[in-house]
Amino acid sequence: SAVPTDGPTIFDKIIKKEIPSTVVYEDDKALAFRDINPQAPTHILVIPKIRDGLTRLSEAEERHIEILGYLIYVAKLVAKQEGLEDGYRIVINDGPNGCQSVYHLHIHIIGGRQMNWPPG
Ligand code: 5GP
Repeated sequence: SAVPTDGPTIFDKIIKKEIPSTVVYEDDKALAFRDINPQAPTHILVIPKIRDGLTRLSEAEERHIEILGYLIYVAKLVAKQEGLEDGYRIVINDGPNGCQSVYHLHIHIIGGRQMNWPPG
């Protein structure tokens, strides 16, 4: 990849509670918190607490399979907790074309309004 993806990110500080965030779910492996620039009434990010090379989905290796599945399941739990019974969208942006801005893999949960398809 031509983009710098290996350094620490803002999410490390969020995990360590060195900068504030609105945490909606936390366990030993995952953290979910509200996006600072929400694109819908509900916009939450689900991240692994240990990045372990998972800067972006395209860097995923076989050792990441379990955490990737786990994060999607956490997204489901959080969506239920948020009352998104009419549905929602999960998104993983990868790399420049995917508009990824933070290189610590994260799942967006976006909901609380009608989504559009195809996305822009
Ligand atoms: P990406 O564009 O990489 O898929 O998503 C990164 C997301 O992180 C963006 O939606 C952005 O608003 C969010 N974000 C960036 N910095 C912070 C922060 O300091 N706190 C929170 N809560 N969200 C952030």
